[in-house]
Amino acid sequence: TDLSHIRNFSIVAHIDHGKSTLADRLIQVTGGLSDREMKEQVLDNMELERERGITIKAQTVSLSYTARNGKTYQLNLIDTPGHVDFAYEVNRSLAAVEGSLLVVDASQGVEAQTLANVYQAIEVDHEIVPVLNKIDLPAAEPERIKEQIEDVIGLDASEAVLISAKTGLGIEDVLEAIVNRLPPPEGDREAALKAMLVDSWYDPYLGVVVLVRVVDGSLKKGQRIRMMAAKATYTVDNVGKFTPHRQMVETLGPGEIGFITASIKEVADTNVGDTITDEKRPAETALPGFRPSQPVVFCGLFPVDSAEFEDLRDAIGKLRLNDASFEFEMETSAALGFGFRCGFLGLLHLEIIRERLEREFNIDLITTAPSVVYHMYRTDGEMEELHNPADMPDPVHIDHIEEPWIKATILVPDDYLGAVLKLCEERRGIQQDLTYAGNRAMVVYELPLNEVVFDFYDRLKSITKGYASFDYQIIGYRQDDLVRMQILVNEEPVDALAIIVHRSKAEARGRVMCEKLKELIPRHLFKIPIQAAIGGRVIARETIGAMRKDVTAKCYGGDATRKRKLLEKQKAGKKKMRQFGRVEIPQDAFINALKMD
Ligand code: GDP
Ligand code: MG
Repeated sequence: TDLSHIRNFSIVAHIDHGKSTLADRLIQVTGGLSDREMKEQVLDNMELERERGITIKAQTVSLSYTARNGKTYQLNLIDTPGHVDFAYEVNRSLAAVEGSLLVVDASQGVEAQTLANVYQAIEVDHEIVPVLNKIDLPAAEPERIKEQIEDVIGLDASEAVLISAKTGLGIEDVLEAIVNRLPPPEGDREAALKAMLVDSWYDPYLGVVVLVRVVDGSLKKGQRIRMMAAKATYTVDNVGKFTPHRQMVETLGPGEIGFITASIKEVADTNVGDTITDEKRPAETALPGFRPSQPVVFCGLFPVDSAEFEDLRDAIGKLRLNDASFEFEMETSAALGFGFRCGFLGLLHLEIIRERLEREFNIDLITTAPSVVYHMYRTDGEMEELHNPADMPDPVHIDHIEEPWIKATILVPDDYLGAVLKLCEERRGIQQDLTYAGNRAMVVYELPLNEVVFDFYDRLKSITKGYASFDYQIIGYRQDDLVRMQILVNEEPVDALAIIVHRSKAEARGRVMCEKLKELIPRHLFKIPIQAAIGGRVIARETIGAMRKDVTAKCYGGDATRKRKLLEKQKAGKKKMRQFGRVEIPQDAFINALKMD
């Protein structure tokens, strides 16, 4: 295809502003799918994604559109993941196209992820077309939102396209804007092959499928290719496009977006952002900006029933086939037995994997407290990454500890600003900026990721009745006074409950954890002391009193069904318990003990 007849674009938006609905409409209007095939939100094809209304893995679609000028264009849409955990994947997807549609809900206006995403698009030099969606809503205020886009983002919004992705109003105007306002790609067909690896996933029929954007040269069947960063070589089996059906093609030329398969067994060789080149005639330099995705949050996953360990190993291996950014290694815990230490890009990523293991593979899991990656500087000068608080070396060998920090941007209606500032201060935040974007405050804080990783987002949502939006990026590692706090149940340390905490917070944190555990662990026939300790020093304690009577005693023996129900309930509850020494700890205690509210 002639480069001047290609347009490559992404849609950037805050969650729920209508990105998926618009993508569906574009596919429908250009005839990519028949009405019968047109189910809602075709691009969000995982059940979980649909339920949560988020897009996890980037998808792409190639559309054919005959414009009002009579010419036919190939429009390639790359869908980007909408969550901060996947910021690097968003950046790479955006770098693979020349322009973006900036979708803003005309009743809501600019939100934190609107800003984060549009700044990413600006960073990769995109031409940006503002699109105001949901103008069918009575609360839509397109004129006010145009002003807001100009004030806050500094983009000219005078020619914003007004649409309703729901009713289909204005969709042709969007297509015309793509053709007329976004630039065509540039590239050299004769040059050595350079293609960006945008995404990859495992397909049961094709093996690993690699989504690519060709920059120079071309890709065809039978070609020997090389992944430059992974240093892996393969032979191309298939070349194709998603229309959104899979359609095989002869070649993918400069400016085009499509997929290849090459009998790749492992996604480990297919890193997002890597450059694919020709083995016989390699490009001299790789495309800029490659860095492998690094997990930042680790936690332990253990089967509730230790007999399910092999099933868990199997399931984790299968998920990993589809997700190169997810890491795991075997772990043994005194409290929980055999399991895996797993690394994730963030908390949402963790949740997704955990839910898929439980739902798709039917494995009951115990999740231990998520922890960030600490840098331990030993007295001998060596740096060691700490993924698990249980592995912390003896403090006498540690010179100092560094933890990851983030820069967080929060947008919130004025009424809730005080509560948000208080929350950030409680979490050791350092305020960087406070400005107004229309009637909303925009606060920028630097925060230790450790303080955010656990329940910050939930707390933020609850103190602002859901009105705050939040986004963050990692800014680096900083030294601080960090210590390991252990929890002792019945005098024994429970490794799965150990956490790394700032010394100034340890006592308060320990007290809350002990109180929580007192509620979470049922009474036994004996007294159970619960203690929080740093090294050998106990900093908080609670005691669970001994059980006095049989639980069923309060049923007065009269009602047999009620008694049986209670016993059944107890039994069902038991399945979710973990024996630890003489004490039974409910499986959810390992995570709930950490919540701070
Ligand atoms: P995404 O998170 O940006 O992908 O947003 P979705 O496309 O999933 O849309 C979020 C919600 O807004 C869904 O319930 C849609 O049905 C609804 N929605 C999308 N576009 C419109 C629109 O133009 N008008 C109205 N009233 N609702 C819309
Ligand atoms: Mg969506």
